[in-house]
Amino acid sequence: MSVFVVGSVALDTVKTPFEEHADLLGGSASYAAVGASFFSPVNLVGVVGDDFPEEHVEFFKSRKIDLTGLQIVPGKTFRWSGEYMLDMNVRETRSVALNVFEHFNPVLPAAYKKPSLALLANIGPNLQNHVLDQMERPKFVIADTMDLWINIALDELKRLLKRVDMLILNDSEARLLTQETSLIRAGMKIQALGPKFVALKKGEHGCLLFGQNGDFFSCSAYPLEDVHDPTGAGDTFAGGLAGHLAANTKGDVNFAALRKAVVFGSVLASYNVEQFSLERMRSLTDGDIAARYESFKLFSHFEVIED
Ligand code: AMP
Repeated sequence: MSVFVVGSVALDTVKTPFEEHADLLGGSASYAAVGASFFSPVNLVGVVGDDFPEEHVEFFKSRKIDLTGLQIVPGKTFRWSGEYMLDMNVRETRSVALNVFEHFNPVLPAAYKKPSLALLANIGPNLQNHVLDQMERPKFVIADTMDLWINIALDELKRLLKRVDMLILNDSEARLLTQETSLIRAGMKIQALGPKFVALKKGEHGCLLFGQNGDFFSCSAYPLEDVHDPTGAGDTFAGGLAGHLAANTKGDVNFAALRKAVVFGSVLASYNVEQFSLERMRSLTDGDIAARYESFKLFSHFEVIED
């Protein structure tokens, strides 16, 4: 079963306290699509300019990502630049150039219009709504968002929340959206806005998953010694999670399946931050993923302590 992914495809410039690299493959949809592709086929919708390097297109194709929905239009690709502080949970956006993204009108190819599972990666909620308008209601819809949309497009975001099954966002965004200090209360307040499930990401501290009737799951992050570039960790998490659900549930998602998908999403994200951009994804194998999943099981199981 394919996952449908829409979001940004970008060229990023990223500075950490130790390194800086320019014009890297980035964008929410790039990370999400590649993350999902480790578990299921992907149909990608996005836009790039005619400056977008062919090698990135070839990389997507090598991951068996269908690019019928990727528009290549005259002009420059969306560019984003960010700088990480010594505490790499803290990032400042240095510049954004919307370029061809400014007039992006996502158009779904006919073959994409009946997905069982859709991931609306981070783009404006107006575009996310516009994409949903073009498809038959998928069995399961996941949306990602960011502080920018909470600040400038709250009504449109609230309209979107009524149409999705799951929202993924980070802790500070959850607090901004709900005006709550408690993340637990924030998660529940977001559920009251529409989504049955909410995943709250806490950077290097893992993620909280809220389900129905009080279902709750806390997943720690993999204890990595060296984080080289946290960019796209959240998008890779969302993509890995969506791909795993598509491969294992056919869109009929229950909490047990979601819990497992959250761990696989965390595995993918933990690998992605080991190198800049999507570089680590090029050499990642199914064996690597399985090995780290086993480590996650080992260090998060209480039964181990009881033995
Ligand atoms: P994350 O680290 O999960 O926040 O995602 C970083 C990615 O989001 C980068 O590759 C950027 O190109 C992309 N990005 C930054 N700002 C936006 C935006 N306003 N809309 C869509 N994508 C964005």
